[in-house]
Amino acid sequence: MGRLQTHRAARLNPLVVLGATGSIGEQTLDVAHRLGIPIAAVAAARGSEALHAIASQHSEAVVAVASPTPTERARFSKSFGTRVAFGADAVADLARRAGHTIVNGIVGAAGLPSSLAALEAGNRLALANKESLVAAGPVMKAAQVRGGGELIPVDSEHSAIWQCLVGERIGDVSKLILTASGGPFRGRTLQDLEQVTVAEALDHPTWSMGPRITIDSATLMNKAFEVIEAHMLFDLSYDDIDVVVHPQSIVHSLVEFRDGSIKAELGSADMRGPIQYAITYPDRHRFAEAPFDLTAAPLEFLEPDRSTFRCLDLGYAAGRAGGSAPAVLNAADEVAVHAFLQGQIGFTSIARVVERTLDRCGSVPIESLEDVLAADSQARGVAREALGVSC
Ligand code: MG
Repeated sequence: MGRLQTHRAARLNPLVVLGATGSIGEQTLDVAHRLGIPIAAVAAARGSEALHAIASQHSEAVVAVASPTPTERARFSKSFGTRVAFGADAVADLARRAGHTIVNGIVGAAGLPSSLAALEAGNRLALANKESLVAAGPVMKAAQVRGGGELIPVDSEHSAIWQCLVGERIGDVSKLILTASGGPFRGRTLQDLEQVTVAEALDHPTWSMGPRITIDSATLMNKAFEVIEAHMLFDLSYDDIDVVVHPQSIVHSLVEFRDGSIKAELGSADMRGPIQYAITYPDRHRFAEAPFDLTAAPLEFLEPDRSTFRCLDLGYAAGRAGGSAPAVLNAADEVAVHAFLQGQIGFTSIARVVERTLDRCGSVPIESLEDVLAADSQARGVAREALGVSC
């Protein structure tokens, strides 16, 4: 009586950090440093100064650079000798290292082969690459069945749902409720949105993230992707996945059960929380940041404005269509967001480009990574044509 239960946490696997120079990668390196977890390997798209610094700091880590320039290749070879490898295959090979936890923070479709490789090799995959589940959900599931890998979401909403489901049966769930901050343009009209600038769209009120996901948060496309991810992760029908706007980003998501009880996960808007949980699950380790003050802010929950932020319903439609449609959604959005960031199209044209591309590409069955990449590539071509007529 009166004695606290103690347990010894399982030893944590060394980490392979893919997309090491991005927002998720940097925060993962910070979490690893705080928990004392060794970094076994790091990878990034380019041989940047940032990757060079990370590789120099982690002198035991293997390094992969997906697409270096000739200068970068020469510099990295000179600095790191045999511990550096080049090419997209070298990155996916890192995900196959037995007994490692793979944190996939690669942005875009380039992250797919690594996710599949991690699951096929039976590794734990701490997944922050949205495209893996959005564009290639059925292929990911098949890879997990084949290889026995463990898929733990890093996205804050899915981490929240995962945490709410610990000790529960999925059959008892009546609804998943994803929270959305609403982004910087919550409350604006469609007419207001015609005029917004790139800088305004990049100024996210609560979360600090990379540029594409920040724009996707402003259009609510990010939430559309998360609805599809939730469908793939938790096997609930689209009718049972809801979105609610919660401007404070304190409630990270909720689960409603068939008895009417609702569980929520709350915390500060700090991605290092979900990253750490995905690495340490089922254990919890001390989180070094000060906890948020529960009394500091009211908690508001609002209906999303679906007619102004049309990307949300485009996402539901693509998810329900299934097959290649979510891959098309993702590819079209990537093209449209890139064009917006380059100043080629206006903010509201993002939804127009995506809708036009979905209409023209339709949906075909997806059975392999090749099918996904073919749908992705076709959609990019169609979306680029749509740029010209949508701006
Ligand atoms: Mg999220």
